[in-house]
Amino acid sequence: MRIGHGYDVHVLTPGRRLVLCGVEIPCELGLLGHSDADAATHALMDALLGAAGLGDIGKLFPDSDETYRDISSLKLLDRVMDLLHDAMLQVGNADITIVAQKPRLSEYTQSMRQCLAQHLEVGPERVNVKATTEEGLGQVSTLGIAAHAVVLLEER
Ligand code: MG
Repeated sequence: MRIGHGYDVHVLTPGRRLVLCGVEIPCELGLLGHSDADAATHALMDALLGAAGLGDIGKLFPDSDETYRDISSLKLLDRVMDLLHDAMLQVGNADITIVAQKPRLSEYTQSMRQCLAQHLEVGPERVNVKATTEEGLGQVSTLGIAAHAVVLLEER
C-alpha cells in the first residue's frame, strides 16, 4: 500500500465560479486560479501523485501552459488516473477535508463524493468528503478555501 497527502488553497474572488470536488456551488464568490481552481480536486491529485511517487500537479500541469486555462480539474484528475494505471496502481480510499469559512458546504458533500468516486473508479463508500470552518480564526479560510487530501493506493 502507498499513502499520499495533498494540500491546496485558492483565493475567493467575485466573478468566478465556485467548483469543489467537481461540483459547482452557487455562491457570489468563486476561486481564482489558472484552471477552474478546484482546490479540493487539486489537493486530491497531489495526494495521488505523492502516493505514487510521481511528483505534483504544478509540474504536470504548469500554469504557464495555456492548454490548462479554465480547464475542469476533473479532466486533470483523469490524466492523473491514467498515470496511476500505467504505474499499476489503483485507489484504495480517499479522504478530503475542505476548510472554508463560507459558504456552507455540508449539503454538497454527498454529490462531491459521488462525483470523485466516478473519476477515481471506486465506489462512493471509498471516498469521503467533509467540510469544516476554522471558527473564524483562520486567515486562509476567511480569504479563500483550502483543502487537505489523504489517499491510499494499492498495487494491482
Ligand atoms: Mg491549485
